Amino acid sequence: MSEVTLKHVCKRYGKTEVVKDVNLNVRDQEFIVLVGPSGCGKSTTLRMIAGLEEISGGDLLIGGTRMNEVEPKDRDIAMVFQNYALYPHMNVYENMAFGLKMRKFTKDDIDKRVKEAAAILDLDKLLDRKPKALSGGQRQRVALGRAIVREPQVFLMDEPLSNLDAKLRVQMRAEISKLQKRLKVTTVYVTHDQTEAMTMGERIVVMHDGMIQQVATPEEVYRMPVNIFVAGFIGSPAMNFIQGTLEDKGNSVLFQAYGAEWVLNTAQEKKVREHSYVGKEIVFGIRPENIEYGGRDAQNTFQATVEVVEYTGSEAYLHCSGFGEKMLTIRSSNIKVQRGALATLVIDIDKAHLFDVQSEKNILLFE
Ligand code: ADP
Repeated sequence: MSEVTLKHVCKRYGKTEVVKDVNLNVRDQEFIVLVGPSGCGKSTTLRMIAGLEEISGGDLLIGGTRMNEVEPKDRDIAMVFQNYALYPHMNVYENMAFGLKMRKFTKDDIDKRVKEAAAILDLDKLLDRKPKALSGGQRQRVALGRAIVREPQVFLMDEPLSNLDAKLRVQMRAEISKLQKRLKVTTVYVTHDQTEAMTMGERIVVMHDGMIQQVATPEEVYRMPVNIFVAGFIGSPAMNFIQGTLEDKGNSVLFQAYGAEWVLNTAQEKKVREHSYVGKEIVFGIRPENIEYGGRDAQNTFQATVEVVEYTGSEAYLHCSGFGEKMLTIRSSNIKVQRGALATLVIDIDKAHLFDVQSEKNILLFE
C-alpha cells in the first residue's frame, strides 16, 4: 500500500504561513492533481512530500509510515520536474540509468529496467542520443523514464508539461494518464492549469492562499463547487456571478437583479428558505453554457446586447451587456451571431449556483 497522507501539514517561512493546515489522503494507486493559481502553495506541498522542503508542522505518512524526518532518497518516491533536469552530457540511456547506478543496482538489473522503460515510452531508438538532440516531448519522456525505472511507491510531478507547446501538451497529458494507469503508481501531480487538472485527475485538490478549498472528482468540483473561488477557477470561460436579492412571492422565490426576475426551482427555494436567505442579498452563479442565446421561454430571461464575439470554430463565446456594469459570458453553438445583436437570453435555473455574500460558500450544499 502506498497511500500518501498529510495531517495538519503547514509550511512557514519566518512568520508567513504559505501552506495552512493541509489534510489530504491520496489513495493507493490514485492519480490526484493539486491545482490553483500561482503562489497558492502547490509546489511547496509537493516538495514537502518529496522531502525537498522541511515540514513546519503536522505529519506526512507514505504507506502508513511517518516520513517527516526521512531523507528524500529514502522515501521511495520519484519526482518529475518542469525543466526535466536531464544531464546534458549523458545520453538517454545514461540519464535513465544514473539514479539506479547511484543506488548500486547491478548492471543487469539496470539494463533490464532501462530497456523496459524505454519500450513503454517509445524511446528504444533514442537511447544513444544526448538531450540536446531530442524534442521537448522526447525530453519529457526521458524525465518520466528516469522516474519509472526506480519503480517507486509514489510519483510526484511538478508542472511536467508546462514547457511544451499546446498540441504536445494535450498529447502528453493522455500519455501520462495512460502510463499511470498501467504502472498503478500513486501519483501527485501539480498544475496551475484547470483543464489539465480536470482531464487528468481522478480527484482534484483545489488550493487557494495555502489552503485546500475542495477535494473531489472533476465532475463533482464542476457541478458542486463549494465556494465562489472554486466555482470561478474551474471551468472555461469562467462562471458568471451576479449579486442580487431573493424576493418572497409566497408560492415562489425570485432572484432579482438589474430588473431581471428569475424563479428558483423547488430544491433551491427549499434551501434558501431553510437557511433564511429570503429577503437577503446573495451571489447568483451561472456557467456560460447554461445561458441560452435567443431562447423562447417566457420565464427566467433577460434582454442583452452582444458586445464581443469570440469564435472558437465549433462555438462562440458571447460577451453581453444589459446587466448594469456587468458583462455576461455565454457559450453558444450559434456561431452566426454578430456583434451588436439584441437577443433574449434564457437562464437554465436548474444549473444555477447560489452563494453567501460574506462567506462565499455554496448555499445549495448546506446541510
Ligand atoms: P505554487 O506552486 O502554487 O505556485 P509555491 O508553493 O511555489 O506556489 O509558493 C507558495 C508561496 O510561498 C508563494 O507565495 C511563494 O512566494 C512563497 N515561497 C516559496 N518559497 C519560498 C521561500 N523559500 N521563502 C519565502 N517564501 C517562499
